[in-house]
Amino acid sequence: MPASITPLRVVIAGGGIGALEALMALHDLGGQQLDLTVVAPNGDFVLRPMSVAVPFSVGHETRIPLTEICARFGATLRHAAVASVDVVDHVVACSDGAQLEYDRLILATGAAARPAYHAALTFDDADPTALNGLLADIDEGYCRSVAVVIPPSGSWALPAYELALLIAHEAHSSSNEEIAIHVVTPETEPLAIFGTTASRAVAELLERTGITVHNSAYAAIERPGEILLAPGDARLSVQRIVALPVIVGRPVPGIAADDHGFVPVDDHGRVVGVDDVYVVGDGADYPVKQGGLATQQADAAARDIAAGAGAPVVAEPFRPVLRGLLLTGGEPQFMRHDVAAGTEEGTTSVDRLWWPPSKVVGHYLAPFLSRELAVVAPLKAPDEPEGITVDVALSPDRDARPLALEPLGPLPRHGRW
Ligand SMILES: Cc1cc2nc3c(=O)[nH]c(=O)nc-3n(C[C@H](O)[C@H](O)[C@H](O)COP(=O)(O)OP(=O)(O)OC[C@H]3O[C@@H](n4cnc5c(N)ncnc54)[C@H](O)[C@@H]3O)c2cc1C
Repeated sequence: MPASITPLRVVIAGGGIGALEALMALHDLGGQQLDLTVVAPNGDFVLRPMSVAVPFSVGHETRIPLTEICARFGATLRHAAVASVDVVDHVVACSDGAQLEYDRLILATGAAARPAYHAALTFDDADPTALNGLLADIDEGYCRSVAVVIPPSGSWALPAYELALLIAHEAHSSSNEEIAIHVVTPETEPLAIFGTTASRAVAELLERTGITVHNSAYAAIERPGEILLAPGDARLSVQRIVALPVIVGRPVPGIAADDHGFVPVDDHGRVVGVDDVYVVGDGADYPVKQGGLATQQADAAARDIAAGAGAPVVAEPFRPVLRGLLLTGGEPQFMRHDVAAGTEEGTTSVDRLWWPPSKVVGHYLAPFLSRELAVVAPLKAPDEPEGITVDVALSPDRDARPLALEPLGPLPRHGRW
């Protein structure tokens, strides 16, 4: 870098999935042309999707200190929340009183989860052990019927099916064979968003497991144990109800949001009508809130910023590809759907459809977590390894550029990935 070039100051707000993917992408693509600062109130990055596995002991909480990640990817870390943004003067006000000037700002501050029903137990990824009482009752045989409810608006539905399948697995392991398990969902088919092939496979798996699905059903719960299914007047009575929360936006003051609190952005994550501010992840107005999509949005924003800073990168729009890994209690189910291609089909398999086989697929984040923490899906080891063994001569500069060795490879500097 010529000495006369001043690095572009990029502030990333957030310490979750979108923020860290953005950080890693900017570090790789923008290099010394960027001066990176992360502002986050949380001390550790926590992989939220693994929370479902925790109460069932099929996985454990995954956390890594943000100080380590920021040091590794060349960013200054500020332990604070962004309190407001002055988009005219390009200044971020932090909860600790600091005022940070930025040239580009990425907001990856996520969304808020709110209970949808007061008469049900809300699954909260911040405290998954709240399920322990229910699981103890299932183990003891006191609980003979459970419903898992997806509320009518704005929830990532996949954890509901994981909960139902893992509850069934738990019940069968403790010989509570008679238990009745229901899923109530507004979806037309289970996980229809992954396309017809995956949805059909999940429906068959649920049926084989003895789980009853109530599709196209909008649940109202006024009393514990009683669910009114609309449209119509059917009622479902169960001993226990577990519901997913609803997701609502929590925009940072100074950034305009829609009626639900989500920030309108373009295909590069740029906030509509505001210069130099990007929103990625659950806080943006894309209707599907999912970690893998958050990383793809973060990559699109990072490319746009790096290209603008003069790095040899071509900006590419967000082109959503959904990848989901369903924990089942047995072999996990991989599902992939190229949403942008507009096909109905999608793909599903119990064989790995991507590598590393992580729950959140991010071009940078997944290889990083797999390498650092061995965070991959709890897969059974294959009986016989397939293929042949080869020796590979590694380049001597591999430690200087570890991402170059990842199976997915670095993001191409030009063209699509
Ligand atoms: C139970 C469960 C299971 C899931 N399963 C999957 C799955 O299998 N696969 C998948 O891809 N996705 C899954 N998801 C969805 C995924 O976790 C989210 O879509 C993803 O975390 C969104 O990323 P984000 O960066 O937008 O927000 P988050 O990951 O929530 O991160 C937001 C960050 O912003 C910080 N923050 C908040 N306010 C401020 C502020 N004012 N200033 C600075 N920082 C702030 C927070 O501390 C946090 O670090 C699951 C979610 C849940 C709850």
